[in-house]
Amino acid sequence: MSALATAPDAPALHATTRNLHPIGSNAFYLLPLGSIRPTGWLKAQLLIQANGLSGHLDETWPDVGANSGWLGGTGESWERGPYYLDGLIPLAWLLDDARLKAKAQRFVDWTLTHQQANGMIGPVTNDDWWPRIVMLKALTQYQELTGDARVIPLIDKYFQHQLAELPKRPLRDWGKFRWQDEALSAIWLFNRTGAAYLLDLLRLLHQQGYDWMAQYADFKYTGPTTAAFLKLAEGNGLKDPDLATHGVNNAQAIKTGPVWWLLSGNETDRSAARKMLEELDRYHGLPNGMFSCDEHLDGRDPSQGSELCSVVESMFSLEQALAVTGDPWFGDRLERLAYNALPGTFTDDMWAHQYNQEPNQVECSLHRRPWVSDGPESNLYGLEPNFGCCTANFSQGWPKFANSLVMLAGAQESDVHDGLVAAAYAPCEVRMKFRDTTIFVAQETEYPFRGTVRFAVNPSEQVRFPFQFRIPAWAAGATIRVNGEAQPPAEPGVFARVERYWRYGDRVEIAFPMQPRISRWFNDSVAVERGPLVFSLGIGEDWVKLRERGMTADWQVFPTAPWNYAVDVDSVAPAKTLQVTEAEVGEGPFTAKHAPVRITAKARKVPEWRAEDGAANPVPQSPVATSQPEETITLIPYAAAKLRITAFPQCKA
Ligand SMILES: [Zn+2]
Repeated sequence: MSALATAPDAPALHATTRNLHPIGSNAFYLLPLGSIRPTGWLKAQLLIQANGLSGHLDETWPDVGANSGWLGGTGESWERGPYYLDGLIPLAWLLDDARLKAKAQRFVDWTLTHQQANGMIGPVTNDDWWPRIVMLKALTQYQELTGDARVIPLIDKYFQHQLAELPKRPLRDWGKFRWQDEALSAIWLFNRTGAAYLLDLLRLLHQQGYDWMAQYADFKYTGPTTAAFLKLAEGNGLKDPDLATHGVNNAQAIKTGPVWWLLSGNETDRSAARKMLEELDRYHGLPNGMFSCDEHLDGRDPSQGSELCSVVESMFSLEQALAVTGDPWFGDRLERLAYNALPGTFTDDMWAHQYNQEPNQVECSLHRRPWVSDGPESNLYGLEPNFGCCTANFSQGWPKFANSLVMLAGAQESDVHDGLVAAAYAPCEVRMKFRDTTIFVAQETEYPFRGTVRFAVNPSEQVRFPFQFRIPAWAAGATIRVNGEAQPPAEPGVFARVERYWRYGDRVEIAFPMQPRISRWFNDSVAVERGPLVFSLGIGEDWVKLRERGMTADWQVFPTAPWNYAVDVDSVAPAKTLQVTEAEVGEGPFTAKHAPVRITAKARKVPEWRAEDGAANPVPQSPVATSQPEETITLIPYAAAKLRITAFPQCKA
């Protein structure tokens, strides 16, 4: 039996809260927080995060320190306290870490005990709606984890206040462009109280909020954002064209269509998230699963950057879009970000991060200024390179991913079509209430480094339901066995359903095909992939400390080896020209030192492909002719290579 099943301090089980009429039904629901616990490499990764900057940020960064406005001090009183809490809360409870819970509790308690008579929450020095949108995300998670009876009345009083105030003091700038994140919290409360005024609030947020569906119905921002364009947008305060092309705003906007569909019932809204991502991919897509945003949309050149906030906000949007729509495509993208872009932008110990990461990142130094609007420190590894938003906001990435691995399907509790959903793959244990039973599920796997995923399904008594397993679009030929018995062939890009009476001791084993593949990017360049991992040439790194930053430091990274290779891969049968070597999946699997998978390829240098000011020039149009001698290069997971080439030119045959 799973360790969770026998833990004496296992929390009380709650039924999953479903959407209340007239809010439409999600395809899937996230389980009540606390249901999923990380194991294996995922737990090790969360411990790295807890032992790194996330678990100590308040000790070394005044913006979330003792003088924070969100603790009643005179310091930073805007988004940084709530940002930090939005990731610290799930991290602390996933790890059941008393030290981290105590840190989070101080912020929560201050907010819960300092609501103003009119219902307003937060520091009195500003009345911006935006940081409160983030605080609501943090408080709803905290309530699910603790059941603290103070939370729902506080949010209820705040929303009533906001409904009365918004006509006089409407959403502006960040709050206007990120209204859909508040809509999630309003829906969360409606599902628990049924108070009809919340539907009025939702309609008002939609009415005052930016029309993202219109932006993507006729997408105009199809090229790199120019300084001239932003200059046009200058004036008093932030202007719409600036905010509409802002990377983090677009990342948060991905969820807008599905969230609003819950009220509108309009199919165009439901399908809008996929349309948004397809447009972003077409004009700004990068091999790490991100769109370029440094910090405005910046085209498909893999030397452009993506902001860390946009990575974690895209992940959160994808988790919500997957839950509402049930479209497995979002799960594929979620894993691509979680297993590449997210770990790729931190040092191995998670004490330092970048503001901007690049798929073709040949130097991280002060030399480089190719960004639309970001400063020269943007791709340094450090405490708060360029700007401190990511420092405060990054903590939510891994914990929310962990909480999204297994979901519940089905519109209603009595629905015979309800069941479990394996939404994403990583080692974890689940303990949940399902109809009248308790179910323990253990997901045992070294995915994404290996292709085998095993589920132990242990209901307290036998119960019939469909268990849906996401088969990624790349996984043609995946097989499923239940208690050793082969199931019908699993189609890629859909959820495979296994419906049966589940009994204690049942075992499911999924085998995903793990031969290497190639994908095509800017100028017909080639990226090598295997499973959900993207692979990069790890360029020799020389780390030079720029300055001490309290408990951490800022670093420049310079290349010590050549990187200007074109690869010689077979376009039709790439696996024939790519050799895979596996090593143990230990702690820190996203590090170069312990890379669990390496792929070798034949390559030749392209002398005319150079760097300028520390940035690789745009990858040359493939195929390229080169008379340089053939060499063998070794590729490692994208995240392990802190200096890297990911999109290669292909050698002319
Ligand atoms: Zn940021």
